[in-house]
Amino acid sequence: MQVIRGIRDMQSQAMSWRAAGRRIAFVPTMGNLHDGHLGLVREATRQADRVVVSIFVNPLQFDDAGDYQHYPRTLAQDLQQLEELDVAAVFTPSEQEMYPDGREQITRVEVPGISEQLEGACRPGHFTGVATVVTKLLQTVLPDLALFGEKDYQQLLVIRKLVADLNIPVTIQGLPTRREVDGLAMSSRNSRLTPPERRQASGLYAVLTWTVEQLRKGTSDREQLEAEARRRLEAAGFAPEYVSIRDAASLEPAEPASSDRIVLAAARLGETRLIDNLRV
Ligand code: AMP
Repeated sequence: MQVIRGIRDMQSQAMSWRAAGRRIAFVPTMGNLHDGHLGLVREATRQADRVVVSIFVNPLQFDDAGDYQHYPRTLAQDLQQLEELDVAAVFTPSEQEMYPDGREQITRVEVPGISEQLEGACRPGHFTGVATVVTKLLQTVLPDLALFGEKDYQQLLVIRKLVADLNIPVTIQGLPTRREVDGLAMSSRNSRLTPPERRQASGLYAVLTWTVEQLRKGTSDREQLEAEARRRLEAAGFAPEYVSIRDAASLEPAEPASSDRIVLAAARLGETRLIDNLRV
């Protein structure tokens, strides 16, 4: 497994694989790898000849300097985990390599509409940071296929739209959320929960499950159900930011007739912000 730090080095490796007819699959991450990430990597190895994983904590997508500073960084441990899988290269650039003129000076990719609501409304600039770094990474790794988790469902839709709008020749594949046994979605941020918070944290999944059950039973008053879900989160010790029932394709508020609905939520537990979603 090669560890590549330079953009040029990564591009020339990718170009020589492509020239030799190899199919490249790419899994972008911010590191502190867990089974959710490793599931994407395993699927990538099934679908391609060469798998590239990137590890880069992207400052551009953090709206909170403290969150960026405290984001868990465990490169040595991450590389060890990836060694055990069939990964051809790990691309782990420095901030200087990615933003040589400083992060304020970078050309930005803005994805209108879908970026402005939910996570985008709570975290101004977040999706511009994500869209910009993913575009740069795709132009560096030159993959045929890139895999993303449905855990970050809105992010997946933002990336699908930017790839379509900018004619980037890559297939985007979303994979289901991996969960702990109590239902908590795996996340690098879970490591920041205190032991009592960790016990409480599965309450988020429980409320999403409850909300989906109500929708399946035919509850049609969306706003009332969202308000009740918020109350349940508060009762479980969370400070909810949103609980929202949306159309899974457009992320517009779901009409009762919508056939493909998704419930998305963000909530704080102490210092930690958790997000999750569940399809109806
Ligand atoms: P991150 O390192 O948080 O930027 O995540 C890197 C990729 O892993 C993104 O595509 C995430 O959606 C995905 N991911 C994170 N957590 C999970 C999970 N629990 N299940 C599936 N995919 C995940």
